[in-house]
Amino acid sequence: MSTLELRGVHAGYGKAQVLHDVSIHVGDGSITTLLGANGAGKTTTLRAISGLVRSTGEILVDGRPIPSAPDAVARLGVAHVPQGRGTIGQLSVEDNLKAGALLRRDRAQIRADLRRLRELFPVLGERAQSQAAGLSGGEQQMLAIARALMGRPSILLLDEPSLGLAPLVTKELFVLLPRLRDEWGLTVLVVEQNADLALSVGDHAVVLESGRVVLTGTAREVSGHDEVRRAYLGN
Ligand code: ATP
Repeated sequence: MSTLELRGVHAGYGKAQVLHDVSIHVGDGSITTLLGANGAGKTTTLRAISGLVRSTGEILVDGRPIPSAPDAVARLGVAHVPQGRGTIGQLSVEDNLKAGALLRRDRAQIRADLRRLRELFPVLGERAQSQAAGLSGGEQQMLAIARALMGRPSILLLDEPSLGLAPLVTKELFVLLPRLRDEWGLTVLVVEQNADLALSVGDHAVVLESGRVVLTGTAREVSGHDEVRRAYLGN
């Protein structure tokens, strides 16, 4: 587990500045939900953490500044599951999982982790030799998460895992998050449009509006906030 902290982060694309002075604290072993309307800058926040978008300000893991190159960020234990899954469609399920462990040398532990993931996501064991592209949306999302876990990260960044999934599948996925956090020792930052569901499993929440943090608190505090209820929870 690790802490993740953004302090006064600014980021954007070329001249278009998207994030303005964003400060977020993701506590050790917590699940923090990042909420906001389309275009608020949620994906950009995750991309800034991963070094995929250039940023200024401070991004700290366990109090230490993180490097700006994506592979160096990954080495530090930060795994990013992007929107649209992040699996390699032409590879088998098994090879996708092995690709997630490319930076590791602890072969016995890699085999043990593969076994654990097949228990956690039985379909990945059943379909080990199938091409990833042939899996359903929910199965691909599970594979993307499992593949990220094969890198043994301490911080997991999830970008809209529910995108394109049926509500029941989305629910199954979110219900797993606290278990993943506990069993894999993760600190999780998850971007999610389905605010009700994300707040129900999350510990903390941050609301972004036009690239600025407008609200932070425990999931309970944020879900009880009138404006949030109106804007994201539909009541
Ligand atoms: P969504 O829920 O729609 O994914 P978001 O909150 O994740 O929204 P971002 O994807 O971070 O928002 O986008 C924030 C702003 O940055 C938007 O105005 C978007 O148009 C712009 N943007 C995103 N990606 C790029 C890019 N590659 N080049 C230029 N502008 C971009």
